Amino acid sequence: MNQLSIKAHAKINLFLNITGLRNDEYHELEMVMQSIELHDNIIITPRKKGINIDTNSNEIPIGSDNLAYKAAEKIIEESDFSRGVNIFIDKKIPVAAGLAGGSTDAAAVIKGMNNLFNLDLEDHTIHDIALKVGSDVPFCLNPGTAYATGRGDKLEYLTALKKYKVILVKPPVMVSTKKIYEMYDDLDQNIEVPVKKLLKNIKKKKRLNIKDGWANVLEPVTRNVIKEVGEIENILRDKGFEFTLMTGSGPAVFSLVCKNREEAAKQLVKNWQRDQDFIILTETI
Ligand code: ATP
Repeated sequence: MNQLSIKAHAKINLFLNITGLRNDEYHELEMVMQSIELHDNIIITPRKKGINIDTNSNEIPIGSDNLAYKAAEKIIEESDFSRGVNIFIDKKIPVAAGLAGGSTDAAAVIKGMNNLFNLDLEDHTIHDIALKVGSDVPFCLNPGTAYATGRGDKLEYLTALKKYKVILVKPPVMVSTKKIYEMYDDLDQNIEVPVKKLLKNIKKKKRLNIKDGWANVLEPVTRNVIKEVGEIENILRDKGFEFTLMTGSGPAVFSLVCKNREEAAKQLVKNWQRDQDFIILTETI
């Protein structure tokens, strides 16, 4: 086999809470990460030497700043693989949106190179390489539903959710994750996220209800600087999609759709008036 094509799924956060600042300047997080069907396609082929990135996107770097490049570089450093690799990124996930687009590409490269080149890397080596590339990369190695703590790298996989359709909307603006976290630190706010109760609801496979306290503590911060986030959330809530939240540091916003609203969700996506927004009806996996 001399080519491998691999799906790199995006994620949303069903809740996101910050419990403190760590010594390494990362924040101590607790959140539920949920993979969704929306994915990039990563195509890996061998080359004699070096790492070559190509993509259909003009929004991502193609040099050593690309997280997929970093992943390949780490694999080459930490295994006995001595040749090179071509990586094509067919970008479908909106960039800098809170959807872990770069992290999931990196995870796909780690898994893909390990398989295509028969590297036989142990699970803990794969996890370590993933974490060196970024906090969200370990989760992206195994799509599903997980409770993540630490930097987001300590993972407890949960029973899979019942499938939900997901309306995903991203306004045509980008945010810097770093800046949003800095602004959070300067803001005195006290959203209480009832983490234990929410985890119990998932474990008991209860229908997820926004009134149980699902929240993202970064949401007020991003909403302050990007008015589109609040505007989009208001439209979705006004249309009756109550379970509407921002994912990660934003600015993408999602609604979980219950079974009896799936047709309404299709119509909403079809008739979306804000024509600069990225909008898609996808689903949890
Ligand atoms: P997270 O949810 O992990 O904070 P995100 O979805 O907000 O991530 P990304 O799409 O990963 O953000 O993009 C963040 C930055 O990373 C962008 O500025 C982008 O240029 C850079 N980047 C590097 N490699 C990639 C990649 N393969 N795909 C997307 N962005 C990348």
